[in-house]
Amino acid sequence: MEKMIIVGTGCAGLTAAIYAARANFAPLVLEGHEPGGQLSTTTLVENFPGFKEGIDGPELIMNMKAQAERFGARFQYATVEAFEPATGHVRVKLDSQWVETQSLVVASGASARWLGLPREKELVGHGLTSCATCDGAFYRNVPVCVIGGGDSACEEASFLTRFASKVYLIHRRDGLRASKIMADRALANPKIEPIWHTELAEYLTDDSGEMRAVTLRNLKSGATRELEVKCVFVAIGHVPNTAPFKGQLDMDENGYLLQRNGTQTNIPGVFAAGDVADHVYRQAITAAGQGCAAALDAERYLSHLEPH
Ligand code: NAP
Repeated sequence: MEKMIIVGTGCAGLTAAIYAARANFAPLVLEGHEPGGQLSTTTLVENFPGFKEGIDGPELIMNMKAQAERFGARFQYATVEAFEPATGHVRVKLDSQWVETQSLVVASGASARWLGLPREKELVGHGLTSCATCDGAFYRNVPVCVIGGGDSACEEASFLTRFASKVYLIHRRDGLRASKIMADRALANPKIEPIWHTELAEYLTDDSGEMRAVTLRNLKSGATRELEVKCVFVAIGHVPNTAPFKGQLDMDENGYLLQRNGTQTNIPGVFAAGDVADHVYRQAITAAGQGCAAALDAERYLSHLEPH
């Protein structure tokens, strides 16, 4: 029986791990298929307090993990396959085996949303991606496009100008959702060309199955046209990673976990933190704050089970 399992190694999970480890719970921290969460796929983070020149997302995550390990957190590569409550504890299925725990912090974050167009899955890695930091350098001196109008789209577009000959920013409206500083930076870049009121209608590939162009549809006129791009970077937001908890943990209509009295879920001993429950703020620092709160809530819960 574990005392505390923490699902996720993004900002929320790792902060929960630091607090829980310092409270001597030796939490078992599960790294899923996107270790480090969204920060590990970003570049410079300029708004995390304490780093006046900014810090690289992956470096920030590595530091947090080392900090948690220093106090006794244990890490395991595993994805939660199923979850069920039991009397006085809960059970999670990892690699086909049930593991029991007295408390659980769900900090499984949110993953990139895709457009839902035909052949999308098979094109990932062949000119279709959601991570400019990971794949941008493969597309030197060729035209690429970014889909979306939020901070992610603007950040990715700006980053891609280091490599690509041209970056088309394709957005379904004519106003960016991104914060002013990110939007201004992107629009001032001479390599970035916004294409407004437009959606991507179709991916077009060459004989070897690599992206060669896209079909764009103007949402005002309905007109379609072909645009030559070697890579499409999709940056249209995220969906929460809550599938294994469906039917057990209360969620809103978009699948985000619902919290009550702080970070508690509807099941005693189960707490939620970060982007898996937060569709409003979604910042590294708010996720870290929630991770801290969830660890403290779990600690309090455990101390009522048996004096610690
Ligand atoms: P977001 O703010 O939800 O923006 C998603 C964008 O994609 C919106 O412009 C939306 O269009 C568009 N979109 C959504 N579904 C679409 C579809 N099916 N087809 C075409 N376009 C679609 O997501 P995000 O940019 O990933 O940002 C998420 C959070 O992370 C935000 O809070 C953001 O501030 C934060 N963030 C911060 C930084 C930073 O500070 N360094 C960097 C990245 C992200 P509409 O505008 O028309 O809805």
